[in-house]
Amino acid sequence: MNARPHLIARVRPELARTERELSCHLFPLPADGPLPASLRAYCGFDIVPGQAERLDGPAGMPCMPCLLQAALAS
Ligand SMILES: [Zn+2]
Repeated sequence: MNARPHLIARVRPELARTERELSCHLFPLPADGPLPASLRAYCGFDIVPGQAERLDGPAGMPCMPCLLQAALAS
């Protein structure tokens, strides 16, 4: 299986204003090359890396649309 690399991240709690921002989103990463300036989650949510915290695993509330899209994409 050739799983696409992805990143689990959420907006830092002190910056999050909505439930969606507090959810853990899944971001597909480029297979190689530098990290883009802004990342788009599977669900379409955009995040700026400086405003996000990277998680080593799912924590808190997962974003359901992201989970479903990631499962379909892998
Ligand atoms: Zn999401």
